[in-house]
Amino acid sequence: MHRRAHTRACTLTATSVAAGLVLASVPAVAASAADADAASVPKNVILMISDGAGYNQFDAASLYEHGTSAHQVAVDPATGAIAHEAATPGQVYETWPVQVAQSHYSASGRAEYVTEKAWGDFGWVASGATDSAAAGTALGTGVKTNNGTLGFAPGGDRLLTVGEQAQEVGKKVGLVTSVPFNHATPAGFIAHNADRNDYQGLAAEMIDSGVDVLMGGGHPMYTDAHEPRPADWTWIAQRDYERVSTGATPFTFIEDKADFDALAAGTAVPDKVFGLAQVAETLQYNRPGLANDTALPYTDPANDVADLDTLARGALNVLDTGDEGFFLMVEGGAVDWAGHANQTTRLVEEQIAFNDAVEAVESWVEENSSWDETLVIVTADHETGYLAGAGAGAETGWTPMTGAAGQLPDLTWHSGGHTNALVPLFAKGAGADVLEARADQWDLVRGAYLDNTAIGETIFDVLGHGERSSADAVALEATIAGQPADGALSLSVAGHGERVSFGGSGADLDATLPLVTVADTRNEVHAQGRGWTLAGTATDFVAGNRTLSAENLAWAPRIVRSEAGAAAGGRATLAAPATLATADRTSRLGSTVIGADLDLTVPADAAGGRYGSEITLTLFAQD
Ligand SMILES: [Zn+2]
Repeated sequence: MHRRAHTRACTLTATSVAAGLVLASVPAVAASAADADAASVPKNVILMISDGAGYNQFDAASLYEHGTSAHQVAVDPATGAIAHEAATPGQVYETWPVQVAQSHYSASGRAEYVTEKAWGDFGWVASGATDSAAAGTALGTGVKTNNGTLGFAPGGDRLLTVGEQAQEVGKKVGLVTSVPFNHATPAGFIAHNADRNDYQGLAAEMIDSGVDVLMGGGHPMYTDAHEPRPADWTWIAQRDYERVSTGATPFTFIEDKADFDALAAGTAVPDKVFGLAQVAETLQYNRPGLANDTALPYTDPANDVADLDTLARGALNVLDTGDEGFFLMVEGGAVDWAGHANQTTRLVEEQIAFNDAVEAVESWVEENSSWDETLVIVTADHETGYLAGAGAGAETGWTPMTGAAGQLPDLTWHSGGHTNALVPLFAKGAGADVLEARADQWDLVRGAYLDNTAIGETIFDVLGHGERSSADAVALEATIAGQPADGALSLSVAGHGERVSFGGSGADLDATLPLVTVADTRNEVHAQGRGWTLAGTATDFVAGNRTLSAENLAWAPRIVRSEAGAAAGGRATLAAPATLATADRTSRLGSTVIGADLDLTVPADAAGGRYGSEITLTLFAQD
């Protein structure tokens, strides 16, 4: 509660109010309203992105590893016939409870995904796709933007990233990748730059962003064969490399394999780590032998650098040290590079490296955390290379990839760029059901899908929706269903240890302001023969970059108890200062307890999510 005294010697005190209005949406599948209270918000969120991996890139690795696939399909665009192959889960996440598809078009590309076109014309998805900057921005802010842009909306507005919001609410933040640490995907979760290719600018912004872990390639002193080289400042400016590698930033700098291994083993865990693997760009993808695209995976000797799963384990050791939890993004960044090059051997290697990182994360959750407190999401940012089965093409349509364990799969590439083909999303842990609920669109072949912005929105739901201007204001929070819900909505208010319940459904939601007590024991000299006014305003309800105006929040104040007859204000919206109660010279004395009925009108087009706001109360002496 904010108290503003206009008298010189005001002795007013007001009971502090610290309460949250919590409105929990009840998905249509929820069994009862009681489940709404148990709706779980994870402490930790781990988002794992295989850059450029469509369904077939995921399956290519499983075919090589196990001779199995889980997502193969034959589709004939001429007849519309769709035949799904028998699915055998080959990866840990392919048994997770939430498995949906994801669309990822950007604002400047195709700007839509249309299932009939995607499966009716073999060429349709091949053009107008997102790049990793626009996709990373959508995942990291919940807002679509133009290709090439990081952290800004198409109109130029600066977007709040989940990395910034995580820090705002006290969570640690880590960004880990197998390509340069400041490549577009990790940058999408923290940085703002109109040009994704401004790598030196992105490096500086990320180093100074306050995050706790940055890891990846981009080392100025090493080649992609892990050999020393003359300095190359493509990825990081000399001054930034020097300050980060000499301890002139909050980061502990690590670079060699032994350092990463020690961090992963938990033997040396600093507060913040900048881990710059000793490679120019990629951990393994660019190493010698890249031209051998028919060799079996691992034929070319590997660089002696830490793998992505070791990086992820090390990051988890740094991040899991506080009560507030963390947000971690882990990218298998070179799956995309293999797709651009149509390099099947290294595609398989890179996707397996990503799978190993997912397994490391799953083990960490089970050994060091739990699925009740950690949400893990595995997905991609787009598809690269238009990978399909043997014989696929405009005439024949889509054919299943086939293969045997230990062999390169039988497949065809149809692009050197990105495509609009849907990519898979797998999720497990607290809040995973939110992602399933947001998969409210339907693809003829892949089934339920969500848009990439829904992932950013879901992460914001977990992190809350800041803009909290003062720690002592009354916090409001409302979770709004994304679509007209079949189930009910309910809202409850916690205040002074009590939950003040507040129910409603559809567009009108009601709550009760926690009781506010004004105690006026001023003498006549101090009160100057006058009374007081208790007024308040509310901020907009904000969910990441979405806003629900304070115009939609109204209150109807009431006097619960007054020793001398203070008066309640009339019903008003809280967009502008509104009067909660007033007292004149005679009615001001003693203790007055005031409450208010709050109601929030949710516009039909409000996007779903957990919105946050706050009411600030101000006590004026009438002087
Ligand atoms: Zn790419």
